[in-house]
Amino acid sequence: MDMDDCIFCKIVRREIPALTLYEDGDFLAFLDIHPQSPGHAQVIPKKHYRWVWDVPNIGAYFEVVRKIAKAQQKVFNTEWILSKIIGDEVAHAHIWVFPGNEAKGDKNDLEGNARKLREALTNK
Ligand SMILES: [Zn+2]
Repeated sequence: MDMDDCIFCKIVRREIPALTLYEDGDFLAFLDIHPQSPGHAQVIPKKHYRWVWDVPNIGAYFEVVRKIAKAQQKVFNTEWILSKIIGDEVAHAHIWVFPGNEAKGDKNDLEGNARKLREALTNK
């Protein structure tokens, strides 16, 4: 697959809009536009890797996933955070992080959920 056509690379390059939750030099977390539950996030490396297992600094990657999960616990008032690593939907490494079904909130309020998660990520 050509990186020029990769939807996640386009999000990293800001060619496709996304509700960004967290960003550092290597990783980006943003809300999934088809959420399974409130605050459903995708965490990706900025560089194009096909699989999560190809990311060399995978420890740092999981630190970001943990930050997102902790923020979701706080914002949606649940301990139950699910994560999924499959890799078939988009050919760019990504980790799903999403609260369980009993999470409090409206999964379709993307703007509101992004704002609350950004706040939780900045005020620890
Ligand atoms: Zn890509």
